[in-house]
Amino acid sequence: MPVVVQKFGGSSVATAERIRAAARRAIRAKQAGNQVVVVVSARGDTTDDLIQLAHEISEQPPAREMDMLLATGEQISIALMAMAIQSMGEPAISFTGAQIGIRTDSFHTKARIREISTTRIREALRKGEIVIVAGFQGIDDLNNITTLGRGGSDTTAVALAAALKHDPTTSDPTERAVGCEIYTDVDGVYTTDPRLVPEAHKIDEISYDEMLELASMGAGVMHSRSIEFAKKFDVPLMVRSSFSDAIGTWIVPEAPWMLGVSVCGAAIAKDEARILLDGLPDRPGVSHRIFSTLAQVNIAVDMIAQSLGEAGKAAIGFTVMRNEMSLATAKLQPLIAELGGTIRTVEDVSKVSIVGTGMRTTTGVAEKMFAALGQEGVNIKMITTGDIKISVLVDKAEGAKALRAVHQAFKLSENRPGAGAPTSENAAPFSLSDAMNPSSKGAATQTTQLIMQRLSSMEAIVVSGVELTVEQSRITIHDLPDRPGHCSRVFEAVAQSGAVVDMIVQNLTGSDRAELSFSVPNSDLLAALDSTRNAVRDIEVTARVTGDADMAVLFVHGVGMRTHTGVAEKMFGALAAQGINIKLINTSEVCISVVIEQAQGSQALAALKACFNLA
Ligand code: ASP
Ligand code: MG
Repeated sequence: MPVVVQKFGGSSVATAERIRAAARRAIRAKQAGNQVVVVVSARGDTTDDLIQLAHEISEQPPAREMDMLLATGEQISIALMAMAIQSMGEPAISFTGAQIGIRTDSFHTKARIREISTTRIREALRKGEIVIVAGFQGIDDLNNITTLGRGGSDTTAVALAAALKHDPTTSDPTERAVGCEIYTDVDGVYTTDPRLVPEAHKIDEISYDEMLELASMGAGVMHSRSIEFAKKFDVPLMVRSSFSDAIGTWIVPEAPWMLGVSVCGAAIAKDEARILLDGLPDRPGVSHRIFSTLAQVNIAVDMIAQSLGEAGKAAIGFTVMRNEMSLATAKLQPLIAELGGTIRTVEDVSKVSIVGTGMRTTTGVAEKMFAALGQEGVNIKMITTGDIKISVLVDKAEGAKALRAVHQAFKLSENRPGAGAPTSENAAPFSLSDAMNPSSKGAATQTTQLIMQRLSSMEAIVVSGVELTVEQSRITIHDLPDRPGHCSRVFEAVAQSGAVVDMIVQNLTGSDRAELSFSVPNSDLLAALDSTRNAVRDIEVTARVTGDADMAVLFVHGVGMRTHTGVAEKMFGALAAQGINIKLINTSEVCISVVIEQAQGSQALAALKACFNLA
């Protein structure tokens, strides 16, 4: 029998009535001919209340005891859910994470799943029981209770679906037909946060990568790590409302029609803080030391922009979650002092991003975004670009305005394929049977063997590919006054020259000055340089433009670039070991790119392939 995993978030089990409604939904799925696994979060604000209580008792509650405490929230929900289902006449059984065999590492309060045993779930499912599993929790090798980090129940649900879908213990293919539904208090993923932009549009289908880029942004619909799992283990899933039967948003493998949509959504992350390290020696290994220092304390670094700097000095800017800023700066202080640099921090910043698969093949997207921001008088403090994402950092006070401006510029409130309009090649919308049937649209993009290997270390980093683009040029504007509209003017001019701009990095250097770099193909360098110089001359005569041909751009693609601080660290480490100097760095959720000398390109590519075990 096929399996449906249904996850109910905190608001969907907040009251007795809602628990009963969720129970009815699980029973309906069973009556439709499925085996059913239900994953639940803690009810309503339980987790927040428990955290507050802990802080009333102790200033710094020990992490192990915190996990012991927080895990109780989900334990309440599973018991109540099992009672509700049984009272309706269906057999059901509840399990904690430990009972079901969710093994994690020992990083209390942000543990990672190592493996999941399916034995006990299968036994119960085959007996006809609805299996109810506590989300967000697991157990380490010493049988300590662990939790997976806030919002971790989504991750539990998708990880369970993955383990059942690729379950080596069953030879019955129908038991490996697994669907996954995330029930929440919104009816899907929107083009942006509808509370900030009321005309936001519901999205019907979105790719894993697009969702990863958006989910990293506080849109709050789903936990990023759960999407990583979905992508890594080929689990299409639907986010939908627990209060209605409306079809929600399918998160699915990338489909060819998506290339026709240059921007599918925009998002804002408000809880960011920016750290700028200035006056660093421009030599191999510096960025590696910085990011390994942060990786040691498990701080997730988001936007990273390393600028070129001058006179042998480079600047690295990056963002971290605001609540991790003081830890990050405290850890970095001694290293930066040793390197002779300075640390500056800015707390009140927001990151606004646009995301879309079509960006890979469409040009002019960045230009349009900067123009929209310039028109609204929004000043851009930092820019990074990924392969399907462009992010800018702005003043927190201007965040919502910036978000509205880009949402409007890309007409995201209108119907388009994947959001309100049919996709040409995909006229029938994605469905649960597509998700369950590996030969249809949910088509496995990876071999089962590869996936099964990964199941034994579920949350290990997965880097799926390394790529080298050569014959690239870099153009840098130094000392550009930090004012609204400047980026827009520069890229408008460059676009008019016909040059194709790929990577863009902007970082603040001096107090009121920005350094803006971008890459173009060698063949476009002269034209682009010319038009950049003209544009810059009109803006500020003292700003200077430099260009450099024969660069190479190295890309590392994968999942969890941000949540796994280690990827950047490992990448920079491998390059440092080869004595390769990094000129520019750029990051997003699914891609990290660096610019290096072309002559070192193939050596760097080989080093990265070796370090990530790629053929
Ligand atoms: N109860 C946990 C939290 O509130 C896990 C979850 O809801 O997914 O973060
Ligand atoms: Mg919750």
